[in-house]
Amino acid sequence: MDKIFPKILRVYAGIAACMAGSCPAGIYVTVVRQVMRQFYRVTRSAASEWLKLRHPEAHWRGGCCRMGCMHTRYDLHSHSLASDGTLSPAELVTAAHTAGVDVLALTDHDTTDGIAEAADVARQLGLHLVPGVEISVSWQSQTIHVLALAIDPDCDELRAGLAGLEQFRHWRAEEMGRRLASKGISGCYEGARALAKGNIVGRMHFAQHLVAAGHAGSVRDVFKRFLVNNKPGYVSGEWASLEAALGWIAAAGGMAVIAHPARYKMTASKLRRFIGEFRECGGVGLEVVSGSHSRDNVTTMAALCRNQQLLASCGSDFHGPENPWLRLGQLPELPVGCKPVWESDCWPLH
Ligand code: AMP
Ligand code: MN
Ligand code: MN
Ligand code: MN
Repeated sequence: MDKIFPKILRVYAGIAACMAGSCPAGIYVTVVRQVMRQFYRVTRSAASEWLKLRHPEAHWRGGCCRMGCMHTRYDLHSHSLASDGTLSPAELVTAAHTAGVDVLALTDHDTTDGIAEAADVARQLGLHLVPGVEISVSWQSQTIHVLALAIDPDCDELRAGLAGLEQFRHWRAEEMGRRLASKGISGCYEGARALAKGNIVGRMHFAQHLVAAGHAGSVRDVFKRFLVNNKPGYVSGEWASLEAALGWIAAAGGMAVIAHPARYKMTASKLRRFIGEFRECGGVGLEVVSGSHSRDNVTTMAALCRNQQLLASCGSDFHGPENPWLRLGQLPELPVGCKPVWESDCWPLH
């Protein structure tokens, strides 16, 4: 092993150098890149173990894990048409593969419906698909999103829990339609329902419909004017309790991670209180790097992650190519000192 793996690493370095400069552009580079990827995937696990044993000082960070010239690109938060994304699960996985993502988690809102299709295509492309779901949770009158990573989507307890949320979403959507109609904006429920290609109806579908119907110039504008607290189309309600959601995740053998923690605008002490309860319920991770986090947010969440001994995750929260500023797999590295979720013993892809 000590002879083979250094050689493997040297081969990677050689191929990377070749790709960086001396070889002809175009198809040749593409072929070399494909060969390198396949070769890398096959040997990655074994070589990683060797590096950890022989060189424990080597650092493991972020959207990429760096070992010499080896990179594993992780994106552990994404959406498809099964919830409020705009790509089908197959298109999403293909786009992730094209973007150089090696490990992708599909984490649709409150549904696992897209996972089978995504896993099929991922298998064909040689990409690791982590089955996930982003669960809507109510905690102290606030909506919090909890990512469930590496779940068994067929787990009965999880399926029953998500079915309850799906039902609540249908009632909420009808109620949003009624409230908007009472303000003179009719047909929104039908419009949103038509845009939802899966079983999940969300505010994003209402936003898209309202933009298409000319009631606002952009999705961002619609949210501000119609779909947030104290606005005509906003309907509050109870999502899953933290305890229930984490119970379903545990039953499905998954890891619970707090999604985009900076988005909740909690005070530092409230966020610490939330994390305390989250950990008591079995939660293990914090999404330190998120598509919606600023550089400062990442620094703050990395410190919290280390202090609270949580695992760190990174995900784009990609919803579709309409938002060109938010791309699959294009994430900053996890700050040094954060232990990534994929280094946990519970991570399924060692
Ligand atoms: P829902 O779970 O149906 O309440 O919808 C939440 C989703 O709406 C989020 O996952 C985002 O995709 C989207 N969303 C929420 N707030 C905004 C916003 N201010 N601008 C654009 N999209 C938003
Ligand atoms: Mn969404
Ligand atoms: Mn979210
Ligand atoms: Mn999300």
